[in-house]
Amino acid sequence: MKAGAGNGGPRAQVEEVPVPSIGPGELLVQMKACGLCGTDIEKLHGEYTAAMPVLGHEAVGIVSRVEGKVEGIKEGDRVFPHHHVPCHNCYYCRRGNETMCDHYKTSYLDPGGFSEFIRVPEWNVSHGGVLKVPERLSFDEASLVEPTACCIRAIERCGVEEGDSVLVVGAGPVGMTHALLLASMKARVMVSDISDDRLNFARGSHLGAVLDAGKLDVPQEVKRATEGRGADLAIAASGSLRAIEQALKSVRKGGKVCIFGVPPKGSILQYDVSDPYNSEVSLFSSYAATDVDTAKALKLIASRRIDFASLITHRFRIEEFDRAVETMSSGKGMKVVITP
Ligand SMILES: [Zn+2]
Ligand SMILES: [Zn+2]
Repeated sequence: MKAGAGNGGPRAQVEEVPVPSIGPGELLVQMKACGLCGTDIEKLHGEYTAAMPVLGHEAVGIVSRVEGKVEGIKEGDRVFPHHHVPCHNCYYCRRGNETMCDHYKTSYLDPGGFSEFIRVPEWNVSHGGVLKVPERLSFDEASLVEPTACCIRAIERCGVEEGDSVLVVGAGPVGMTHALLLASMKARVMVSDISDDRLNFARGSHLGAVLDAGKLDVPQEVKRATEGRGADLAIAASGSLRAIEQALKSVRKGGKVCIFGVPPKGSILQYDVSDPYNSEVSLFSSYAATDVDTAKALKLIASRRIDFASLITHRFRIEEFDRAVETMSSGKGMKVVITP
């Protein structure tokens, strides 16, 4: 079968690999769609440090084989198999840090989401890591479950209320997912980016103010829009140091900053920390999502109250994996989805 892979450098390639064999309690899923994530690009570049660099964690598909006894899942089911699944029982899980669970980062899809068939390990299957996708949702739409869940988790961790002004730094696919969610909660959304394509996409979405960070002083613009205060929350939806610094400088006294985009290895911020101290700014981060967040995301996507599907601008087949990666890396498209 074909599988999208790295080549040890920044380029992507397609490999011919055997269909994984599955053991008792495991599933073989035929991939139907899998979103390409910014973290996949970081994994290809060797810059990702949060977990094993396995490519493709937004896959959805059809169960093609079940081995042994598996409760509630049968061949032919449409599913979203979680890449990482926590134990829900350890010290971290019991305190709401499920994505910090030792089991979380050591459970993953094999060989990854960009392959024709995926082995879902027994741990993932037996710990609630397989979500059924309703018939009325397309596989494209369902592939947005994971990135949407990550944004839901971040917004919940930071606590957003109606009327809050929120700056999203970075108008890529996750930045725009945040903007969609925040607008639906009646927050006052501001989005900043430096890419013309992304700024244009954000303008076309009509979710709030769009700030060209290449031309404007974003913190100043945010203050101007908030009676001189600054935003209640700024989400750095890009892992660049510039984005994080912009977020820190754009929040009000007592405001919150969320590090959401993954900073590459060795990102050292030169920043006067007396500033967040003196203004009592809280720093949050949000890493990935759990089955609780994905269940919420699936429900929300299935309700079609929010037009998440409008974020999908490109589709590529597995054999075009290198082109998909190029498109995503160039920042031209919004969400890129791989299909078999
Ligand atoms: Zn992702
Ligand atoms: Zn745990």
